Amino acid sequence: MKTFAKQFEKVLQAANDQIIALAGRANDIDLAISLRQETMRILEEAGYDDVVAKFLDEESNIIKAEIAKYKSSEIPMKFAKSDVMQVEALQSKELLDLMNLKEGMAMKIQEITAQGIMTQMSKVELAKQIGKIKDVQIRYVNTYVETARNQYIQKLHDISAERYRNSTGNGVYWEYVGAPKDDLTRPECELALEHRYFTDAEKNDFQNGAMFDAKVPRWNCRHSFVEITEETYNASR
Ligand SMILES: [Zn+2]
Repeated sequence: MKTFAKQFEKVLQAANDQIIALAGRANDIDLAISLRQETMRILEEAGYDDVVAKFLDEESNIIKAEIAKYKSSEIPMKFAKSDVMQVEALQSKELLDLMNLKEGMAMKIQEITAQGIMTQMSKVELAKQIGKIKDVQIRYVNTYVETARNQYIQKLHDISAERYRNSTGNGVYWEYVGAPKDDLTRPECELALEHRYFTDAEKNDFQNGAMFDAKVPRWNCRHSFVEITEETYNASR
């Protein structure tokens, strides 16, 4: 993920000067309209698609790694092949949107350039505005990937729990785990980390925002629920 974020930033930085030069040359609305295609071409040539494709490829190992991690735990994850495929489908759906970010960025650049032409914005100001779009995109990609990853990893645990529930008839208990408290931790995650052990009902309440009055989805959340045994849960009471 760190490598991807760095490479993504590098691509956007490399493309920035070219995009600014292109936007600066645009002197009527027609040109501003074709800017979107040209911007996308510049991003592609700077390596956008390659970097994203490579990341998608590596990210497919995350699911296998998570299953391996919990293979010998108190409640080992058990899956049918179709379960894993379901999680992989969710992963693809979430991550393929990374490709669409490129189009969104090109559209914003086209908009600001058209606006610049109409308001006779200075070249310096236009360059500044385009730089801002790039910076927002770089920050957003981290948030996006973290949030997406959390969702499909959680899905993996939820499916595993569902199998356990159905095969044993037992209730499922959860522990809230992830990054320790720091400046980025949001209040409801702090409360959930303190609460730590959850019943199924509590987990649902937390996830739909009822418990701790939380906003959902939790963008950039670095926490998830993993199954624990009833004994562990009871010992914690
Ligand atoms: Zn969190």
